[in-house]
Amino acid sequence: MRLAHIDGRLVVRGPEGFVDAEEASRGRFGPDAQTALADWDAFSSWAREFLASPEAAGAPVVTPGDDAVWGPPVPRPAQIFAVGLNYRDHIAESKLSVPAEPAVFTKFRTSLTGHESAVVLPDGLVDWEAELVVVIGRHCHRATRGTAWSHVAGLTVGQDLSERRLQLTGPAPQFSLGKSYPGFAPLGPELVSTDEFADPDDLELGCRLEGGEVLQKSRTSEMVFDVPELITRLSAVCPLLPGDLIFTGTPAGVGGARTPQKFLAPGDVLLTWIEGIGTLRSPMLAAS
Ligand code: ZN
Repeated sequence: MRLAHIDGRLVVRGPEGFVDAEEASRGRFGPDAQTALADWDAFSSWAREFLASPEAAGAPVVTPGDDAVWGPPVPRPAQIFAVGLNYRDHIAESKLSVPAEPAVFTKFRTSLTGHESAVVLPDGLVDWEAELVVVIGRHCHRATRGTAWSHVAGLTVGQDLSERRLQLTGPAPQFSLGKSYPGFAPLGPELVSTDEFADPDDLELGCRLEGGEVLQKSRTSEMVFDVPELITRLSAVCPLLPGDLIFTGTPAGVGGARTPQKFLAPGDVLLTWIEGIGTLRSPMLAAS
């Protein structure tokens, strides 16, 4: 199942295109996408039944126009976890050693945005980080590796945009703040449920500039702490709540580690993809 948040309304991808969830469920779910995550088991069983029914084929299709606003598929997560230094090649380019524990920080919620949403570049050095984002679907405390995936609703594409000067300022680096300017957490275009993946632990991911070079390309199987390990270690401390997000880290190829360094500029359009999910498009704008 694939769902998105278009013009403020939760939509589910049917056989012919997106279908409005509130209309199709006769008011049971939507229009807010967060309602699907709040009761994921009920929503996903309704959606599976609906998509298998003849009703789905006849449902009116929502076609997003050029001016459609794609919201983040999870608009208001209670908690956002992010993990640094989680791919060996990125750890090597950062000239650091493989951590014994995941390096955890947060991205504040006001940094979330959606597909095709412009990011206004603040002063500083804004870098890209293509990341698999895990969306929690079931309350989870002290999970084990064996049960970790059963707490996941689905996966989406994210960018952990990072202003490197602020990120690395101060006696304790300001990861959470330097990665939380408005628009610094683009997410989407769709949330894809875990059952859609043959192997959710091994997906190609990457990013490139539109009309330009590939900046990052790797596989999620290269993570130091894989998704079950991250869920186990995070939930050993914090209960994970339906709708929570985990940004799982980025592979090699960030701009700050290049010689010469390269950062995002107004007019750049960043395309971030993950196999089986899609491509998230993020245009960069100058501050006015
Ligand atoms: Zn990151």
